[in-house]
Amino acid sequence: MDKSILVIVEHDDGRLKISSKEILSFSSEIAVKTGMKVFAAVYGSAINHEVFEEIGKCGVGEIYYGENHLFLMPNVEILLPFLAEVITECRPQFVFTGNTPIGKDLLPPMAQIFSSEMVSDVIQINTIHDSLQFIKTIFGGKIIEMNGYKKQRVFATIRPNAIGIRNNMAVIPSIKVIKSQVNPPINYILKEVVKKNQSRKPLYEAEIIVCGGRGIKRSEDFFLLEELAGVLGASLGYTRAVIDAGFKPRSLQIGQTGKTVSPKIIITCGISGAIQFVAGISTAQHIIAINKDQRATIFKTAHYGIIGDLYQVVPALTDEFKRILNK
Ligand SMILES: Cc1cc2nc3c(=O)[nH]c(=O)nc-3n(C[C@H](O)[C@H](O)[C@H](O)COP(=O)(O)OP(=O)(O)OC[C@H]3O[C@@H](n4cnc5c(N)ncnc54)[C@H](O)[C@@H]3O)c2cc1C
Repeated sequence: MDKSILVIVEHDDGRLKISSKEILSFSSEIAVKTGMKVFAAVYGSAINHEVFEEIGKCGVGEIYYGENHLFLMPNVEILLPFLAEVITECRPQFVFTGNTPIGKDLLPPMAQIFSSEMVSDVIQINTIHDSLQFIKTIFGGKIIEMNGYKKQRVFATIRPNAIGIRNNMAVIPSIKVIKSQVNPPINYILKEVVKKNQSRKPLYEAEIIVCGGRGIKRSEDFFLLEELAGVLGASLGYTRAVIDAGFKPRSLQIGQTGKTVSPKIIITCGISGAIQFVAGISTAQHIIAINKDQRATIFKTAHYGIIGDLYQVVPALTDEFKRILNK
């Protein structure tokens, strides 16, 4: 085993996923601090070469590419032999991927194959000399756990939007094509991936988010936020109070025990700004808060604040954006 990092990359329609950009660029930064090498593993069939260029732009120059038509439908059974081959060849101490549906499926059996440690949903990585410390929350966010690893091999999934994208020196990548033996899956076959809610970007990737809280009193009032989001081309998210009340699905919860988001703009509507909610939006570039209570904690975090009743402010904003954007 060498002092090195392997990043398992995810891409979609010829573009790197944001979570992969974060992990690649962050790993390059670790490499500069510690002297570790960084490799990327990417799989697919006749993939767009921009994916390789984007990996190079994140500062990672050594790519293992698994080429097979069966890789078009991500399936752990199919991917494990390819990734095991890559790990055996580049001998990394750390293997990272996003805490995404695929990442969560893939890494535990990988860790088992290599009899290694597995850490899931990491929110921060600290460099201590030449070892890494992983930070995650446990017990529904009540406790922060820190684990340092000096010598052993570790597989870790990293929460999207938690560590941010760094600016690295771009490199021209060298690509090693791996044509490993891939057997058709035995246990399950993924026939089709249906993307739900095509009109809105997933929260992890969203550039604009309209977010609602308990200030919205009834389920039939959420259309106010939906209209504003529609005009702005924004995605929708909610606080845990809204989710726990059963108004919206858990997958749309933002915060410490929900999703961490990193949009350019987030508009919070009727949200108090509890620390567990703010933990999920702290890397947003511009936070605009609407709250009728001028003492609400959210105004300490927000870059812009509107003190007022959301039932008046949100429709007024929607109308104004419609006018400005000619919609
Ligand atoms: C371990 C743990 C983990 C948690 N994880 C999360 C998490 O991931 N995400 C999360 O969101 N929460 C989480 N919570 C819950 C969190 O502590 C808060 O309870 C929650 O965020 C509050 O949601 P809220 O702001 O919508 O509601 P409230 O705190 O009730 O705030 C509602 C706000 O709306 C304003 N308001 C009311 N009416 C109007 C109106 N007409 N116009 C304008 N403003 C109005 C009020 O002034 C108030 O500030 C967690 C808690 C714990 C203990």
